[in-house]
Amino acid sequence: MRIDTRLAFRLKKVKPSSTLAITSKAKKLKAEGFDIVNLAAGEPDFDTPDFVKEAAVEAIRGGFTKYTPTTGTPELKKAISEKFKRDNRIDYLPEQIIVSCGAKHSIFNALFVLVNPDDEVIMSAPYWVSYPEMVHLCMGVPKFIRTSPENDFKITAEALNKQLSDKTKVLILNSPSNPTGCVYNQEELAKIAEICVKRKIFVISDEIYEKLIYDGLRHVSIAGLGKDIYDLTVTINGLSKSYSMTGWRIGYLGTSLDIAGAISRLQDHSTSNPNSIAQKAAFSALEKGKKDFFDRISGEFQERRDYCMGILKEMKHIKAVKPQGAFYIFCDISETGLKSADFANRLLEEKYVSLIPGEGFGADNYIRISFAASLAQLKEGLGRLAKFLEGVAGN
Ligand code: PMP
Repeated sequence: MRIDTRLAFRLKKVKPSSTLAITSKAKKLKAEGFDIVNLAAGEPDFDTPDFVKEAAVEAIRGGFTKYTPTTGTPELKKAISEKFKRDNRIDYLPEQIIVSCGAKHSIFNALFVLVNPDDEVIMSAPYWVSYPEMVHLCMGVPKFIRTSPENDFKITAEALNKQLSDKTKVLILNSPSNPTGCVYNQEELAKIAEICVKRKIFVISDEIYEKLIYDGLRHVSIAGLGKDIYDLTVTINGLSKSYSMTGWRIGYLGTSLDIAGAISRLQDHSTSNPNSIAQKAAFSALEKGKKDFFDRISGEFQERRDYCMGILKEMKHIKAVKPQGAFYIFCDISETGLKSADFANRLLEEKYVSLIPGEGFGADNYIRISFAASLAQLKEGLGRLAKFLEGVAGN
């Protein structure tokens, strides 16, 4: 019996994660003993802070190992509510907050309760790999606004106006962005907010890289720009990138009571609460992770970014776009004449350097270099990349 033709059609358009193919190949080569330089990482390379680990150990010893309320423990939701007020100037009551199994889960939940079949969801291209696939899972239609280095990879009000239709339901924003590292300022967000309010479009604002921001820039949350846009926005955040807690799977969102209520019902009947121990750890992170903690981490990342940009600028056949946030450098490889997957595969096979092809981000003439690696690894990896580029150009 053929099973593939009988699968639910909501999965038909969903592609596997393109980032996984190259990373699993790199892991295999590493296991075989090859000296791989990993410039593909999607997570910070520092360890989860000790005070966070201690809170988890204490939770286990104290028997905090049972179900919690579906949307998160009251103490964690209160800490998140205070965080939103302190860092983002947004008032969300604990009832407006839902804690989930990672920011990815929070984004999926938001789309699931907002998108009807054939509703259009606008996002910039390049985009984070999972956005279009999540929209497909909700049977919506992803609509892309193509952005470029000339406009810092940002959606402009004019471009947004052009893409609107009577089916537009949601706009996804991601600042700081994966993969481009662009950061929206208040003026740009205010213009976007004005359009969304006028056309009653919901905004999912993915702010997971909020704390990794450089050059003294300030992160701005669109929901903090006025009552009308606040009502339409779902603000997404989490502990993964800011506290290096990717494996703990704690993400959260703040939104209107109506949307939060719908997500609460969805979570009641799908995952129930996120892991109780990880919630205790997340509470401790939010309570104890003070400003100097982030200043130190973003200072370190900024130093690495500047180091990489210095080297990449001198490299032939590649154009690096300077990121203002997150920990990725998006590079145009058009001059090599290679498609991104061929580029990444050859670089891995010939020079043992792994990075992510732009294909999965909707930009097949780009590659993504992660600087979540030590300076020594960055130096070695970029040195090998330069040699690879010399070879490619000689072909
Ligand atoms: N949004 C973006 C833009 C991301 O890059 C990621 C992680 N790669 C996520 C959301 C998901 O984060 P989490 O690990 O909390 O699910």
